[in-house]
Amino acid sequence: MSNNGIQIPRRLPLLLTHEGVLLPGSTVRISVNTPRNMQLVKSRLLKGTSLKSTIIGVIPNTRDPDHDTDDLSPLHSIGTAGLAVQVVGSNWPKPHYTLLITGLCRFRVTALLNERPFPLAEVEQLDKLEQFSPSISLEETERDGELGALSQAFYTAAQQLVDMLDMSVPVVAKLKRLLDSLPRETLPDVVASMIRSSNKEKLQVLDAVGLEERFRRALPLLTRQIESLKLLQKSRKPRPDDERRVFSVRKGGVPSGRQFSLDDEAGEEDGNDFQVLERKVHGVNMPEASLKVCLKELKRLKKMPQSMPDYSLTINYLDLMVELPWDRNTKDRLDIGAARVLLDNDHYAMDKLKRRVLEYLAVRQLKNTLKGPILCFVGPPGVGKTSVGRSIARTLGREFHRISLGGVCDQSDIRGHRRTYVGSMPGRIINGLKTVGVNNPVFLLDEVDKLGKSLQGDPAAALLEVLDPEQNHSFTDHYLNVAFDLSQVLFIATANSMATIPPALLDRMELLHVSGYTQEEKVEIAKRHLIPNQLEQHGLTSEHIQIPEDTTLDVIRSYTREAGVRSLERKIGALCRAVAVKVAEGQKVTEPEHESLDGSAQEARDTAAPPERPIVIDHVALKDILGAPPFEMEVSERLTLPGVALGLAWTPMGGEIMYVEASRMEGEGQLTLTGQLGDVMKESAHLAISWLRANAKNYQLTNMVGGPDPLDGTDIHLHFPAGAVTKDGPSAGVTIVTCLASLFSGRLVRSDVAMTGEITLRGLVLPVGGIKDKVLAAHRAGVKRVILPRRNEKDLEDIPANVRSQLDLVTAGNLEEVLNAAFDGGFARAAKAPEHPRVTSKL
Ligand code: ADP
Repeated sequence: MSNNGIQIPRRLPLLLTHEGVLLPGSTVRISVNTPRNMQLVKSRLLKGTSLKSTIIGVIPNTRDPDHDTDDLSPLHSIGTAGLAVQVVGSNWPKPHYTLLITGLCRFRVTALLNERPFPLAEVEQLDKLEQFSPSISLEETERDGELGALSQAFYTAAQQLVDMLDMSVPVVAKLKRLLDSLPRETLPDVVASMIRSSNKEKLQVLDAVGLEERFRRALPLLTRQIESLKLLQKSRKPRPDDERRVFSVRKGGVPSGRQFSLDDEAGEEDGNDFQVLERKVHGVNMPEASLKVCLKELKRLKKMPQSMPDYSLTINYLDLMVELPWDRNTKDRLDIGAARVLLDNDHYAMDKLKRRVLEYLAVRQLKNTLKGPILCFVGPPGVGKTSVGRSIARTLGREFHRISLGGVCDQSDIRGHRRTYVGSMPGRIINGLKTVGVNNPVFLLDEVDKLGKSLQGDPAAALLEVLDPEQNHSFTDHYLNVAFDLSQVLFIATANSMATIPPALLDRMELLHVSGYTQEEKVEIAKRHLIPNQLEQHGLTSEHIQIPEDTTLDVIRSYTREAGVRSLERKIGALCRAVAVKVAEGQKVTEPEHESLDGSAQEARDTAAPPERPIVIDHVALKDILGAPPFEMEVSERLTLPGVALGLAWTPMGGEIMYVEASRMEGEGQLTLTGQLGDVMKESAHLAISWLRANAKNYQLTNMVGGPDPLDGTDIHLHFPAGAVTKDGPSAGVTIVTCLASLFSGRLVRSDVAMTGEITLRGLVLPVGGIKDKVLAAHRAGVKRVILPRRNEKDLEDIPANVRSQLDLVTAGNLEEVLNAAFDGGFARAAKAPEHPRVTSKL
C-alpha cells in the first residue's frame, strides 16, 4: 500500500460516526443516516468529480448515541482522512447510505469553519506521508533504538499470529503479504483494525500520534489476540470458521473494523424486525413453494451484515412477498339486474357493448371457473372504453387497476427483472396485485395495440402467458421467481385499432368494437354525465352555471372534432373553470352581506353564493371563454373548383373526412402523388387513371387542349392534404376517380357529397371497413350525401336512425353509379361503352 503523493486538502468535510474507528490503512463500511452526514454524502461524494472531493475526514463520535445532541462540540480532535471508494444508497428501513472508506492518514482539527449543512474544518495533517516511504522509515528505525525494538517486537508478534492461522483463508494470506510489504510504521494501524479490539482501544491507537506510543498501544492488543487464540486452539481443534471470527472478512477480502464491535448490537437492533418479518411470512398463507423460498431468504438475511447492499435487496424482496395477496380476495356480488342498471346509469348509448358485457357477466355468474375469452374493447379515444372497464369492476364489487401498455417494449415490464440486476423490480402485473391487495381484481390492459417490440424481448409473448388460462395459474415473475396464481384476475383489454394488436394476442381476445358517437348522442352524454361530473369536480351546482343544449351542440360542432367525448369533456371543464372564477369573485363581495343579514357566515362560505342568478352560457359567453371556434364548416368552400372531391377515411381516432385535390399541366403523361401515401393508395391512383383513360370517350373526358386521351401531353398531380398523416388503404379509390373525372371534364363535384369505396380496374366498387365511423364523420362535417359501396349495405344498420334520416346514403355497385351520384344531374355517358374497353394502364 503506497500513499506516496497523496496530500490531503487543508479543508476537510467531517463525517462523525458512532460506528467504530477508522484507522489509516484499513477499510471500513460506515452506515450514514444523520442529516449532516447525509448532506455530506449528497453534496460532496455524489456530486464531486475530482479525487480530492472523495477525501473526507472521519471523526469517531465519542458521545453516547442515545444522548447525542445537535451541537457539534466537544468534537474529538483527531480523526482519519479517508478516501470514499464506494457509496451505496438504500431506502430500507429508512433512507441511508453505506460508504466504503479507506483510511489514509491522521489529522487534527485546528478550526471548525462550518457546522452546516455539514461540518467543514481546517485540518493539520499528522501522519506525514513521507513517513510511509520505507527508506526513510528504515533510517529512522535505526536511529531510534527503542522504536526499532518496539517495531521489531510488533512485527514478530504479528508473524506469530499469522502462523497460527489457516493460510487458506484469504484474509490471513493477505495479512501475511501485508506484513512483508508494508512499512513497519503502518503495522499498528493495520493490525489493530483487523484484530478483535474494542472501539475504545482503537480510539487509543488513533489518538497515539507519536509512533512509539502507537506501537505501545497496539502491541498489547496483538498479544492478547495471540493468547486467546492459543487458548482456543488448546481447547479444540480449529475450524475454518474460527479464522473468520478473528477477522471480519468481506467479499473480496476487505477487512472491516466494524464487525467486531457492532455485529452484536446490529443483531439485537434487527431482532425485532426479523421477528416481525418472520411472523408475517408465516401469516400470509402463501403456497408451500413460496414459503420455502422466503424462509431460505430469511435465513440468509440473519447471517448478513446490515451494511451489505444485498441486505436491503433481500428485505425489499421479502417485503413484497408478504405484501402480495396470496389468499386475500373480494367476494363477487354479481346481480345481473343491478349490473344492467349500473351500466345504463354510467353510460349513455353503446348498447351493443353493454349487451355483450352483461352476457359475459351472466355466464361468469353461472360458471365461475369460466376460461372464456378476454374481452377487448376496440375504438377511438374517449368513447368510454376505460370507464366501462371500471363499471364492470364496480358491478362485480371487485378492485380495479389499469395497466397502461402504450410504448412498453421490454418484456421485463410485464415479467419483472431478475433479482441479480441492480435496481431490479417486479413487473407491472405483480406490482398491480400489490397495489390492489387482492388476488381477484379487474385488470384493464390499456392500449394493447401500442405494445412495442425491442431487443429486450417481446412483451406480447409475456402478456400471452399472463392471459392464457392454461398457464396463468402459475405465472412466474422474474423478480419473484416463484409462481403466482393469476387465474382469478379478470382481464379486460382496450385498443384503438385492431390492426396493430400482436396476432397471438388477438387470437385470445374477443373484440368488441365501440365506434364514435353522433352529435345527438354527444349532447345526451354531455347532459347526463359530462356536465354533472364537471360541475361536481369544480364545486359548482346548477345554481351557478347552466349550459343549454344549444351551447353544447355548438361546442361539439365548432370546438371539437373527435369521435369520442374527451375534448368535449375538457371544454366543459374550461367553461366550469371560468364560471368558478366569477363565482369566487362574487362570493368575496357578497360574503359580508350574508354575515350582516342573517349572521350565518359559515353557511354563506359553504355554499358559494352566485353573483347573480345562474350564469347561462350562451353563444357570446362561449366565444368569450373558449375563444374563436377552431373548426368551421368548410366543406362547401373547398369544392368550388373542378378537381376536388371529398373522401372518407378511417383512422384509429375514428372516422375523418379527407379531401383529394388534382391539377393538370402540360407535360408527358407523368403522375405525381403527394401527401404521405402508402403503396396501396398509390395503386388506387394508378387504377383510377387507367379506368378513366379507358372510359374517356364515354364520358367525354379530354386533356387540356381537348384531345381524347386525358393524359396526352399532360402531367397530373394528385394531392392528399394533411401531409403530416400517413395515409394508406384502398378506400380512397372512388374519391380519386371522382376527383379526376371532375378535373378531366371541367365539372364541379357536388359540394355536399362524401364517398368511400375500393375500385377495380373494370370499374366495380368493392366494400370497405369502418363504415359507421366514416358516416358519422361525414355527418359531423355537415355532408348531406354519402356514397358507399353496395356490398356495405349491411353495415348501414349500425348507423343510428337519426343520422340515417338526415343523410342521403347512396350505395353504388360500380363507378358509373358513383359518378352519377357525385355530380349534379348525373355524369352522362356519350354513348354505350364498349364491352371490353382497352386498358392502357401505365402500371
Ligand atoms: P377511452 O378509454 O375510450 O379513451 P374513457 O373511458 O377515458 O375513454 O372516457 C373518457 C370520458 O368520457 C370519461 O369521463 C367517460 O366517463 C366519458 N364517457 C365516454 N363515453 C361515455 C358514455 N357513453 N356515457 C357516459 N360517459 C361517457
